[in-house]
Amino acid sequence: MISRLFSQLQRALDGQDAQATIREVCQILPADRLVLASSLGLEDQVLTHLVCAVHAQPRIFTLDTGRLFPETYETMERTMQRYGFRYEVLAPDTGELEALVRAQGPNLFYRSVALRKLCCAVRKTHPLARVLATADAWICGLRREQAVTRCAMERVEWDETFGLAKLNPLIDWTESQVWEFLRAHDIPYNPLHDRGYPSIGCAPCTRAVAPGADLRSGRWWWEQPEHKECGLHWKSEG
Ligand code: SF4
Repeated sequence: MISRLFSQLQRALDGQDAQATIREVCQILPADRLVLASSLGLEDQVLTHLVCAVHAQPRIFTLDTGRLFPETYETMERTMQRYGFRYEVLAPDTGELEALVRAQGPNLFYRSVALRKLCCAVRKTHPLARVLATADAWICGLRREQAVTRCAMERVEWDETFGLAKLNPLIDWTESQVWEFLRAHDIPYNPLHDRGYPSIGCAPCTRAVAPGADLRSGRWWWEQPEHKECGLHWKSEG
């Protein structure tokens, strides 16, 4: 059943542009089995605009790690006002988070890659698993040029980690295309992008970068580039 759905998505979305991808997938899947993942990034705002053009009440979720920038919450509010939907806001499990902070302190992520991944697991990956268990496909704003860890990603993938289809409608878009689309449609975006933050995650793990610097160099800047994923988008081998 699931593999038939995946084959259907691959056939229908092969060679489609972003708008057509969203339109097609919204026809193939019932609204309650399709989710858009949003961290309020530029690409997520483009996809939110496209999904809201098709669905009045789409399922758009966001992971509230508890460590986000104030500007990210403001962007969340402005986006809901503009499009008239409510985000599914996922919080970390209270008991798991309290145990982590009690054992390792609030800023464990600076001490090692392992501890940083543990924090991402509790604050992001585990809540993500909860919401993805309720869907047959998730839409993401990944682009190949964003990072070395994203070069091999495809428009339609099978997500081995979470067991559902993963759709990347903007996989071939350039950063310029994203900005052109945002401006052409007057889409709200996080004001930190205008202050040197090309990629925005949790506040303690994100910093501004110099103009022209690598897009994700301000994320977990103390780590090597090949480690810079939070467990949401690891590509399985094979
Ligand atoms: S990005 Fe930083 S603060 Fe946010 S979940 Fe990951 S390690 Fe924790």
